[in-house]
Amino acid sequence: MNQEERRKLKCAIVDEIAAQKHLIESLAESVKPVAPDNAIGRLTRMEALGSQGISENTLGAARAKLAKLETALEKVDRPGFGICVRCENPIPKGRIMAMPENVLCVPCAEKR
Ligand SMILES: [Zn+2]
Repeated sequence: MNQEERRKLKCAIVDEIAAQKHLIESLAESVKPVAPDNAIGRLTRMEALGSQGISENTLGAARAKLAKLETALEKVDRPGFGICVRCENPIPKGRIMAMPENVLCVPCAEKR
């Protein structure tokens, strides 16, 4: 990975972190306790609680992704970044851009 690619990757990770933080904020808002007299349009309390469950799962996934992205951002300047931790082959740039937290190349990830 050359200097320019590394810089672009870093920007992509920073953007993605900002997007995840925004997502977490809006999800955290939606998982606030549902008041018993809550009347959100035609939603019954049961439906409101149901959608809350989905939001909590999504929130958990978003937080996990944010943690991985922050790890990726810490590692991006290290020489080993973008190298598969298992076989030490370079991870394709497209894959890193799509999933910067990924530490395995495609064949190794598929073997798991
Ligand atoms: Zn590999």
